[in-house]
Amino acid sequence: MQAKYSIIVPMFNEEEVIGHTYLQLKAVMDGYGESYELIFVNDGSRDRTVEIVDGICRNDRNVRLINFSRNFGHQIAITAGMDYAQGEAVIIIDADLQDPPEVMLEMIEKWKEGYEVVYGKRLKRKGETAFKKITAMMFYRTMRSMTNFDIPMDTGDFRLIDRKVCDVLRGLKEKNRFVRGLVSWVGFRQTSVEYVREERFAGETKYPLKKMISFALDGITSFSYKPLKIATYVGFFLSVTSFLYLMVVVYQKLFTSYNEVGWTSIVAINLLFNGIILMLLGLIGEYIGRIYDESKNRPLYIVREAHGFDEERLEQAS
Ligand code: UDP
Ligand code: MG
Repeated sequence: MQAKYSIIVPMFNEEEVIGHTYLQLKAVMDGYGESYELIFVNDGSRDRTVEIVDGICRNDRNVRLINFSRNFGHQIAITAGMDYAQGEAVIIIDADLQDPPEVMLEMIEKWKEGYEVVYGKRLKRKGETAFKKITAMMFYRTMRSMTNFDIPMDTGDFRLIDRKVCDVLRGLKEKNRFVRGLVSWVGFRQTSVEYVREERFAGETKYPLKKMISFALDGITSFSYKPLKIATYVGFFLSVTSFLYLMVVVYQKLFTSYNEVGWTSIVAINLLFNGIILMLLGLIGEYIGRIYDESKNRPLYIVREAHGFDEERLEQAS
């Protein structure tokens, strides 16, 4: 039987929380009384996450497991969940109970009112470091100023999307996936529900600084080429100023007796310009690297095994 709601839970080394998460999701959805399925996507965990979910999967017909062959990243895990989901509405929720499961019911209510995307807007973030909050704030603001369409502020991937939206997203085959940006990009009737982001139930964040930076770069470069334009502006500004300076120097050389010694200034200018040039080349490289990724046409993820799905579904996903 086809479930009405598909709930996607990406997991990376979540052995400490996943059992609790399952029980809470189950309690909320059983209480609601409509059919649902929980799709756990294991993103190459190196701990006991898979064993735990595998055990749950055997005992609960509403639970499915997709097991990746390695760690492909949070956004790819969500994407895989969407490929396998069959529900009329698809909900994405983190495995660490930072997104309160009860809020799913508010999302479902909004969906029933006719909205096709309902995203969770964080009013507050509890128990996260000041560093995380500040970088997150800067990220959402930069993202907004860089793109030409509206990516809602302070929202994560905790959201409900309608089947129609899910099908459209499945058709977007880009490799560097920034799911929340794609969801904004496709449009449809969107609304939000507000919630307080809880502290992680247990374990620690799976987004160290390195992953956060690459996530931010993916987000910005997938939706905007403004950084390249900024590179052009910087280059233009520097050329104009250096040209003016050159005129001054030539004038001094030809028409005055003033002759600067100036080794230091030359070295300083050289270093400054080389630094800027390398930085801008690197920036262009970010874009070229992404074009390269797209052109290789490798699959987004590799599934080692999938449990709890019927034949038809496995076909649908591939
Ligand atoms: N996650 C994942 N793959 C990764 C990193 C994280 O599937 O490479 C999952 C993780 O298990 C969690 C969600 O993505 O369910 C969000 O990660 P986390 O809670 O660590 O991020 P934070 O809330 O600190 O931003
Ligand atoms: Mg978290």
